[in-house]
Amino acid sequence: MSVPGDGTLASHAGERDAVAGEPARPGPVLSSIFHLGPGASDSYGRADNPTYRDLERAIGELEGGGVYTTAFASGMAAISAVLFGLLTAGDTVVIPSDGYYATRPLALDRLDALGVTVRQAPTPGPYSLDGAALVLLETPSNPGMDVCDLAAVCAEAHAAGALVAVDNTTATPLGQRPLDFGADLVLASDTKALSGHGDLLIGHVSTRDEALAGRIRQWRSWTGAIPGPFEAWLALRSLATLDLRLERQASNALAVASLLAARPEVSAVRYPGLPDDPAHPVASKQMRRFGGVLSAVLPDAAFVERMLAASRLAAAVTSFGDVRTGIDRRAQWGGDVVPEGFVRISCGIEDTADLVADLTVALDAALAG
Ligand SMILES: *Cc1c(COP(=O)(O)O)cnc(C)c1O
Repeated sequence: MSVPGDGTLASHAGERDAVAGEPARPGPVLSSIFHLGPGASDSYGRADNPTYRDLERAIGELEGGGVYTTAFASGMAAISAVLFGLLTAGDTVVIPSDGYYATRPLALDRLDALGVTVRQAPTPGPYSLDGAALVLLETPSNPGMDVCDLAAVCAEAHAAGALVAVDNTTATPLGQRPLDFGADLVLASDTKALSGHGDLLIGHVSTRDEALAGRIRQWRSWTGAIPGPFEAWLALRSLATLDLRLERQASNALAVASLLAARPEVSAVRYPGLPDDPAHPVASKQMRRFGGVLSAVLPDAAFVERMLAASRLAAAVTSFGDVRTGIDRRAQWGGDVVPEGFVRISCGIEDTADLVADLTVALDAALAG
């Protein structure tokens, strides 16, 4: 077969060879202990589990193949494995100043206490990489939807002797494959679009470097940052529809971004798929699709509240990548430097015309007061 398309890839990812009489879709292995003996591939659930391997094989195929993937209990467990599993006292790490709001305090509070110097850089740059051991990028960034040039920063970082890890949560591997642009590691919260139904927490780290993979996996085993087998199985089941979900989410996001950009009460919109977004040229070089998440600045907190009350489709929720549209007013959490009316909008798989009509009514209602 020629190179399979994303729909074929996602729906068949991780498939085992057919064995007559065995289930076509093996279920989760819920036992934590395994019979020992010659040829046994499992012994104890914290070390490994056939259900993790199915998910890891599937995600690895989406990440571009030839990779070692380790599934984690959540996105933060994956980030912790990279930061704490790879850095030691005396190292310097560069993290995004505008990325996921839990990564900053984790690094600033806990890494700093262990003797690791933490430097921050805005996602589009500039990056000060001198003496850095590791650069953690997040593109597009959550919640600002800014973008960094992966190939350029990876080249600069490698010249400076630093490893590059990319938090690829917003894009998913079908949106962009950071390893193909030179990143040493890619990680994600698969709680979001990859699993995509707002019903589980899970994450992963992938790398083509066997030694790095070994350290990441050892960190998981030592700390017990493992996903539940049932969650791993749910994630595998869910990613079969990733191509379909992303396609609708991205067309919804472009339509909603265009709607918002045309409204005078909306002072800013960021979506890398908008042709006049400042990140569009760089995003177009490295993203295969622009995803379902956008950000916008609405007049104030009360406006957002009125809009949410008037919308029948958009829920006030603080996650993204779900099949249902969600809007999160980020200033309520206190971790991001954003205006009171700043919202991250995650477009679901509703029909585009329905979503645009619903949000238009909601914006009109919010404007009327
Ligand atoms: C949600 C998120 C995380 C954390 O993932 P959890 O699964 O909630 O632990 C990390 N990075 C980004 C960009 C996220 O959006």
